[in-house]
Amino acid sequence: MKVGDSFKCPEGHEATIVWIREDKKVVAVRCPQKHLGKVRKVADHTKPILRYRHQPRTERQTYLKNMVFLIEI
Ligand SMILES: [Zn+2]
Repeated sequence: MKVGDSFKCPEGHEATIVWIREDKKVVAVRCPQKHLGKVRKVADHTKPILRYRHQPRTERQTYLKNMVFLIEI
C-alpha cells in the first residue's frame, strides 16, 4: 500500500490514498464523490428575534467534494 493507491472511503466510494502514517495504521484518503457535510445550525437573521431562547435558526446542509478522511486500518 502506498500513496496514490485506491482505497474505499467511509461511504464506499473509490478514493485515493494521499497520506499514510508511519506505523501504517492510519491512512488519509481523498474521495472525489460528493459527501453530505455537517448540518450546521445557523442563526437566521432574516427573522426578528422575539426572545433570545427562541432565536430562529435554520439548518444548512452542504455537499462537499474531494473530502479527505482519516481511516484507521
Ligand atoms: Zn466517498
